[in-house]
This record gives sequence, structure tokens and C-alpha cells, in this order.
Amino acid sequence: MKANQMSLIFERSKQDRVGHSLPELDIPETDVSEVIPAEFMREEAPDLPEVSELQIMRHYTALSKRNHGVDSGFYPLGSCTMKYNPKINEDVARIPGLAHVHPYQPVEQVQGSLRLMYNLQTSLAEITGMDEVTLQPAAGAHGEWTGLMMIRAYHEANGEAERTKVIVPDSAHGTNPASATVAGFEAVTVKTNEHGLVDLDHLREVVGEDTAALMLTNPNTLGLFETHIQEMAEIIHSAGGKLYYDGANSNAILGIARPGDMGFDVVHLNLHKTFTGPHGGGGPGSGPVGVKKELSRFLPKPILVKDGEAFRFDHDRPDSIGRVKPYYGNYGINVRAYTYIRTMGPEGLRQVSEFAVLNANYMMRRLEPHFDLPYTQHCQHEFVISGKRQKKLGVRTLDVAKRLLDFGYHPPTIYFPLNVEECMMIEPTETESKETLDEFIDAMIQIAREAEEEPEVVQEAPHHTVIGRLDETLAARKPVLRYQKETATV
Ligand SMILES: *Cc1c(COP(=O)(O)O)cnc(C)c1O
Repeated sequence: MKANQMSLIFERSKQDRVGHSLPELDIPETDVSEVIPAEFMREEAPDLPEVSELQIMRHYTALSKRNHGVDSGFYPLGSCTMKYNPKINEDVARIPGLAHVHPYQPVEQVQGSLRLMYNLQTSLAEITGMDEVTLQPAAGAHGEWTGLMMIRAYHEANGEAERTKVIVPDSAHGTNPASATVAGFEAVTVKTNEHGLVDLDHLREVVGEDTAALMLTNPNTLGLFETHIQEMAEIIHSAGGKLYYDGANSNAILGIARPGDMGFDVVHLNLHKTFTGPHGGGGPGSGPVGVKKELSRFLPKPILVKDGEAFRFDHDRPDSIGRVKPYYGNYGINVRAYTYIRTMGPEGLRQVSEFAVLNANYMMRRLEPHFDLPYTQHCQHEFVISGKRQKKLGVRTLDVAKRLLDFGYHPPTIYFPLNVEECMMIEPTETESKETLDEFIDAMIQIAREAEEEPEVVQEAPHHTVIGRLDETLAARKPVLRYQKETATV
């Protein structure tokens, strides 16, 4: 859309034009100041656009079309698993018996919903190799914090409150050190070696009697499988620490490998990533946490349990870390995830991971001649490439990301993980066709060629979007978050 076609609703305003037509007043008119106390009244009427109903309709419809989502285009945002959200999930979430239950209804009336949640817990325990699962946490970061609070409670119960440090690799998602800090621990960094994996010698150096846990993503945030995971588990466990698995993106391991079998004690999953909950607009999410038996008495209460054929909430959990979310998690997202798991089945889930890994490797190998590949082994569900070569030509990774917008793609994650220079982190997911992968790869190859032949095309991108290149510094320092006539630049 060209800027001049944009719906500038304030500029279209004509005095006394209205967007409604009401019948004549047939009751006595009231003075608003009699019904609304003066302190709640503005001194002057707000400056609102005066437009017709059709104009306002077009305004909002035009705005809605400016969103990019999985349903509108390819979205290879690494570490976010922007896969297709099957619409059957939505149909099930709208079944009145599921959609209209109330959290205060007596449990006898909501046995079906409880059963659904119980089955979901059981499925997730099986998928991850854990003994018990809570559905309470509302997001990945919330799950991390919940898991770490349980680890803390565990050490305290063992009289080991001096275990105050949580080890986190330098390639980890930013939420890991943040959650450790919020849970009252000190985050300690362990380095990544030249193969993109945790440096075991450094791990041995930083581990000690004050180690509470190691938080790990596997495959890690570079998209690489930590092949020495059992050795790492041994190092941490023999020092008395616990292993925390960040399973936000489990797209590479479904039906193939289980954190529980790798030696992990606590795991969280992002149902809004791996299990097709729609996300990207800030929620709602769901970050269930699974634990091994040793930690299950610390799970947030209440716990959903099965008594014979009936389901109920067990509040009698004296060692629980307490409730972490009102009611029992984001139920609607849990319904969608359960629908997904049941429609896929065990074989289908395994295929998800096989295709996710295949797609990522295909894309990585086709891009390899055109961009720098910092780690050359096969990747899992995602991979990183570096724009180092393009940077020498004056084209930064940020420019490449902006240029991709011209092709109608959401750019990959950039400048993350922090340990790779000019990083681009690409996660195609299993739901994309080979044609889509090829089209994206071709766009990337074209951009690499432009960087060599006509760098300004990339440096000045995007050229075809409603809004062009923003001043990044100004946008961060003085963000304009609300439309103001005076500052409108489009
Ligand atoms: C997305 C993500 C998280 C955080 O999940 P939220 O639901 O956004 O809080 C944590 N770790 C990894 C590896 C992730 O990709």
C-alpha cells in the first residue's frame, strides 16, 4: 500500500460528519454533568475525527491488513516456532461445552474439561519423559521461574539453601538468566566452544557446592544438539545440582528424544510454540512444567488428580511452592494443544520433528555458499548464519532483515544468540512447503547478490512497505506509540 492510499482518519475528518444514525430522542434529555461527577469529566471534548461509518470501517480494515502473521506469510523467526496453527484447534476451543465453562463451577459439572487437562498433562509427561506436569504457568518464562522455584524449594528442604547459583550457557535465551535472577539465584555463564556446544571444561570450572542448577536448551539456541548431554548431567548431578530443560522449542525432539531420558529433572514446554497455540501478539501462552518424582511434592498447587474415574483438584500439598496462576492455566490454549496432540498422534508428532529438522537443514545447506555458516555440523529445527561477509561490503544484518520485508517475509531473528557476529537465526518449521522454502532462499540469495552489486538497495530497504526505514535510535529513545497529527510522517 502506498503512503497516500493510507487511511489517515484524522486528516479525512469533516466537521459534523458522523458515523452513526440514531432515531430521534423520545425520552427527556439529561445533562451529563448531572450523572457523571465533575472530576471524571474532561474540560474540553477530545479531538476525534469526524467521519462516516464506512470511512471508519475502511480505516480499521486497512490497519488490520498491515499485520503479518503465519496465516498471511512465511515467518522464519528463529527460537519462536511460528508454525501453522491448525484451524481444527479453533473449532474445538469453540465447542460451547468447553468454551463456556466457568472456573468457579463445581468440579462435578466440569469433569470433561478436567479430563481433557488431565490427559494433556499425561501426554506432556510422556512426551518429555517426566513424572508429573502442571499446566498452571502462563508462558515459557513463567514456567522457567516456576521450575526454578521448585528447585530452590528442593534444595532448601535438603538443608542446602547455600546453593545460590544457576549456570546458563552464553547462547541461552535471555529469559533463562532473567528467570534465575527473579527466582533469587545468581546466574553464572558457561561458555560455548567452537562447535557451538557447551564448553565442558568451563562447565567443570564453574560448577561447585553453590550450584543449584544448570539451565539448558537442547537442541540449544544455535539449533545444535548438545551431544555430551549425559556427561553434563553427570557433572551437575554429582555436584548436587539439578538439570533444567528449556523446552520452549521442542520441535526437533518430539517422539525422538526425551529430556527425562537425557537426565533432566525439570522441563517447561511452550504450548504456544511447539504445540500450535497461536502466538506472536503477546499471548495468551501456556508454559506447562514437568518434573521428576523427587520434585513433584513442590509442584504449584492445586494439582489436578484422578480419583478412580473422577477428577479433582488436590489442595493438600504442604510442600508446594504455592499457586502461580489464578485458576488452572490458560485453558483455551491448553484445549488447542490437546487437540493438536490428539490429531497428530505419536507418529504424527515424530514426523513434525523429522520435517522440521529436514527443512532447516535443507535451507541451511542451500544458503551456505552465500552467507557465513559459523557451525557446520547438521542442525536441528533451526540454524544460524552470519552476515559477516555482507558487513564487509557495508551491508549489515539489519539491512538484510529490512530487505526481506520487501519480499513479504517476516525476517528471521537477528543479532541473537549474542555469541555469533551479525547473526541471523532461521527456523522454517515443518509446516512450510518446499516451494516456500525455495522462494525464501532465492530472496536471500538475491539479497546477497545485491549486497555485492548494488548495496544501497539493501541499505535503504524496505522499499515496498507502508512505513520505510525507521530511525532505530529515535524509535528506542523517543517512541511514538500513539498517532499524533503533528508527528505523523507518513
Ligand atoms: C520463547 C522462548 C522462551 C520464552 O517463552 P515465553 O513464552 O516467551 O515466555 C524461553 N526459552 C526459549 C528457548 C524460547 O525460545
